[in-house]
Amino acid sequence: MNASTKTLTQNTEGTASQVPLELLDSIEVGIAVLDRNFTVHVWNKFLENHSAKKAQSVIGGSIFSHFSEIDEAWLRTKIDPVFNLKSPVFIIWEQRPFLFKFTCNRPVTCAAEFMYQNVTIFPIVENNGRVERFCMLVYDVTEQALGKLGMEHLNEELKTASRVDGLTGLFNRRYWQERFDEMYKLCVRRGKPSTALMLDIDHFKRINDTYGHQAGDKVIQMLAALIKRCVRETDLAGRYGGEEFAIMLNDSTVEDARAVAERIRQLAQRLTVEHEGESISFTVSLGLAQFSADFKSAMAWLECSDQALYKAKESGRNQYCIYE
Ligand code: GH3
Ligand code: MG
Ligand code: MG
Repeated sequence: MNASTKTLTQNTEGTASQVPLELLDSIEVGIAVLDRNFTVHVWNKFLENHSAKKAQSVIGGSIFSHFSEIDEAWLRTKIDPVFNLKSPVFIIWEQRPFLFKFTCNRPVTCAAEFMYQNVTIFPIVENNGRVERFCMLVYDVTEQALGKLGMEHLNEELKTASRVDGLTGLFNRRYWQERFDEMYKLCVRRGKPSTALMLDIDHFKRINDTYGHQAGDKVIQMLAALIKRCVRETDLAGRYGGEEFAIMLNDSTVEDARAVAERIRQLAQRLTVEHEGESISFTVSLGLAQFSADFKSAMAWLECSDQALYKAKESGRNQYCIYE
């Protein structure tokens, strides 16, 4: 950094435009020299090419009048230390994707809407020790940025895929349990009422046997969609097993949860799933357990809603039962 500062200073006895042009123009980096008023003094070939503005049209004018995309107030504040402390300033693409909105014209990086840039701004110290101008280096980091963004996107997709059940789009059992465990701990700390609900399709084996496995899958999918419509965004719904679902109803007493359970039961009973010309009807049983400080673990809590579910099955199915 110091070396380049010197080079520019030594070569400029008054005007920075005396820096050898071949050097400024042969480099694949944008180089601009500006003064305190943001008037442009140097504008190299790289900047000419990417901005489609010739040096003679930019030099002598304010940078802000040529590039409306630059947030003037922000840049002025950003650049303060260059004058006040004579220290360089770095703007990285992660912080602000670009300073100049240049289109991207390289074949490899044409997927980008614009050129991602890292910008280094350093003071040009005059012989009298004062800083009247600064130099801006604009690096094209589009490839690097796209690589990183692509990787982040991929990671995000992988993360989602690892949490979600492929058939239904609900949380899978592992992730559901993880989240349920966190919620259990929150209940312990805050003592807010929440209710765990287990749901199982009645005589599902018959559906598979009568209509085939694919029809069974469709029933599971349709029921999952129905469940999604019946719970709030703050609730936690997951596919717990083959045709078993677990739902954590946040901030819900067992009375609130009773209404949700009855709604799901009725809607499921009314739902007909069409498969290869057949109309399939089915029912569900549900078990509810409200959080109690007596539960020693999240699993102990869930076990109680499972006991209630068992009771619902025993009592004739197509109903919900509450753990007492
Ligand atoms: P119950 O009323 O007592 O719950 O009777 P059930 O027939 O539903 O009994 P159970 O829960 O034991 O049977 C579940 C069946 O679900 C067994 C299994 O073959 C089937 N199954 C599990 N996962 C899937 C799946 O992903 N797709 C399909 N089509 N069937 C599945
Ligand atoms: Mg089952
Ligand atoms: Mg079943």
